[in-house]
Amino acid sequence: MDHFTDRAGRLWAEDVDLTALAAAVGTPFYCYSSATLTRHFGVFRHALSGIASPDGEAPLIAYAVKANPNLSVIATLARLGAGADVVSGGELARAQAAGVPPERIVFSGVGKTRDEMAAALAAGIYQINVEGEAELFALSEVATALGTTAPVALRINPGVDAKTHAKISTGGFENKFGIPLHRAAAAYALAASLPGVRPVGVTAHIGSQLTDLAPLEATFALLGTLVRSLRAGGLAVARVDLGGGLGIPYRPGDPAPPTPADYGALVARATKGWDVRLLCEPGRLIVGNAGILVSRVVTVKPGSHAGGRSFVVVDAAMNDLLRPSLYGAWHHIRAVAPSGDTMVATVVGPVCETGDTFAEDRTIDSVATGDLVAFMSAGAYGATMASTYNSRPLVPEVLVDGAAWAVVRPREELAAQLARERFAPWLV
Ligand SMILES: *Cc1c(COP(=O)(O)O)cnc(C)c1O
Repeated sequence: MDHFTDRAGRLWAEDVDLTALAAAVGTPFYCYSSATLTRHFGVFRHALSGIASPDGEAPLIAYAVKANPNLSVIATLARLGAGADVVSGGELARAQAAGVPPERIVFSGVGKTRDEMAAALAAGIYQINVEGEAELFALSEVATALGTTAPVALRINPGVDAKTHAKISTGGFENKFGIPLHRAAAAYALAASLPGVRPVGVTAHIGSQLTDLAPLEATFALLGTLVRSLRAGGLAVARVDLGGGLGIPYRPGDPAPPTPADYGALVARATKGWDVRLLCEPGRLIVGNAGILVSRVVTVKPGSHAGGRSFVVVDAAMNDLLRPSLYGAWHHIRAVAPSGDTMVATVVGPVCETGDTFAEDRTIDSVATGDLVAFMSAGAYGATMASTYNSRPLVPEVLVDGAAWAVVRPREELAAQLARERFAPWLV
C-alpha cells in the first residue's frame, strides 16, 4: 500500500498536490513518500517481530542502499531503526552521512577493492559479506595491516534459480556472486584460520523482484544445513543474513507477490532452532512503491501508417528511469489528472534510441501535450540508475512528509555539468 492517492480527480503524494508540486519544481522529477517508506519498513519489521537471536536481539533490517541511495531516504529509514546494506565505498559514505550507525552497516559486493575494505574497517561496520576465497585473503591482509579484525559472513551461492529476470538473478552457479555451496565449509574453515578475519556467519542473496517464495525456502533450507554442518565441524556461527529480493506489485492485475507477512512466516519456519541473529537486506520492498517519476507530455505524434499507434513523447527518458529499457520492466503509467478517457499509445522519451520506450501499444489515460503523467513504483532502481545520457541533467528528487515537501536533490544545473569537464591544454 502506498500514499499516492486521488483527491478530487488529481494525484496527490500524501497531502501534497502533485500538480502544484510539478509547477513548483518543474518536470521531470522523482517524488518519494515518507509515510510509505515508514509503512513499508514497519510492515517488514512487524513480519519478523516474533524472531529473536539467543541474546534477544531483533533481526537487523539492513536496507539495501543501492535501491535508492538518496540521503534523505536513508535518513528516514535510519531513524526508524534500519541499518544499511552497502555495496561500494560510495554507498558506505552515504550510509554514514545519513546517520546509520556503523553497528547497523553491512558491506556486500562481489568486487570490493582494498580501499573499500579499509574504509569499512575504519568505520567499524557490523559485518563484511565476503564473496570469494581470494577476497578473504585480501581482507585478511588489509585488516591485519590496520591492526584490526573483520567480522565476516561468507556469501554462499546456493545454486538456486530465483525465477526472476535473468539480469537480476544472482543465486545460480552460472552467476558471479558468492562462494559455491560445495566450497562453503572449506572457505569458512579458511576464514577461521586466517589472521584479521573472524567468520561470524553466512549469507545468501539469490536475486531481486522475487514473486515466488519457493526459491527462498530452498535457499534457507540449504543455509540451515550448512550452519549445522559448520557447527558439527567445531566452527561458530552466530549470524545468518538472508539477503533481500522480495518483489513488489508493478502491474495492476498481476497476481500479488508474497507479502512481508508470508515472508516472515517462512523465515520463522525455516530458521527455527538456528540460534543465530538474523539479518535481512530488503531494498525494493521498502522503497519501490514509495516513489514515482512525474513527467510532462511534450507532444503526441500520430503513428506513421493507418492504424499505427500514437506516440506519447514525455520529458522523462531512459536516462532518468532505465528499468523499462534495461529489463523490459513494466511501470504503470497514469495521468496525474485523468479525464476518464483512455487511448492506446506507445510512451517514449526524447532520447535518440528506440530503446527509450516506457510502454508499447498500451492502453493509458488519454493525455495531450502539457499534461502530467506519473510513472508509478519508481522508488527503487529509478533515480539511482540515472545517467546524463544525451547531456540531460539529473532530475530532482522530492521527499514528501504529510503536507511538507522538500527538494532533497536539486535538478542538476547544465552549467555545473559542463563545468565538471575541462579542455585538454592543447585545445584551449
Ligand atoms: C540488491 C541487493 C539487495 C536488495 O535486493 P532487493 O531486491 O532490492 O530487495 C540485497 N542484498 C544484496 C547483496 C544485493 O545485492
